[in-house]
Amino acid sequence: MSSDDTHKLIIITAPSGSGKTSVVNHLLQVHPQLIFSISACTRNPRPGETDGLSYYFISVDDFKKKIEADAFAEYEMVYEGKYYGTLKAELDRIWNQQCYPLVDIDVKGALKLKNQFGANAMSIFLKAPSIAELENRLRKRGTETEASLKERLDKAHFELSFENQFDHIVVNDQLENACHKVSELTKAFLQF
Ligand code: 5GP
Repeated sequence: MSSDDTHKLIIITAPSGSGKTSVVNHLLQVHPQLIFSISACTRNPRPGETDGLSYYFISVDDFKKKIEADAFAEYEMVYEGKYYGTLKAELDRIWNQQCYPLVDIDVKGALKLKNQFGANAMSIFLKAPSIAELENRLRKRGTETEASLKERLDKAHFELSFENQFDHIVVNDQLENACHKVSELTKAFLQF
């Protein structure tokens, strides 16, 4: 894995309910030079998820072997017993196509990658206007139980405490504006 300045990457992180998926999809659409970095993870695929597209779904044993082989640029146990990680080979796969990885990972992983790649990485923290609005969105989405809602809101509080360590904070009050801002930051950073 090289780190010269043709090897740049965009790191985006956000609590769930902040509109991250829409912003990521928008970026991939308007900037064909960006390729989504597919993480390895040990959770089971959800309906509609395909191995090698959403994630590389692997066993905990395989994940641990890869940790030993130093195959990850970063990895975290994001949820109890569930590992997620960015493979060095995945970043190389993207750079080898003269493209840039768009890495969508949790706060701790994002800060680790930023620390590793320094000026070659731009890190963006996308956030909902407030925790109340986040709760509102998650309730409207209707996918959470009271317990999982609480878990996600607690995680959001925790993640918000790291926002100042990111290169940019973008508030997603209006999806269109947030997409535009993130897109402009990307253009400026990668000099499109
Ligand atoms: P989900 O299981 O809902 O797909 O993802 C759970 C969390 O794992 C999300 O916050 C997502 O950003 C994070 N995540 C996905 N891939 C990676 C990765 O490679 N490394 C880290 N540190 N977090 C990841």
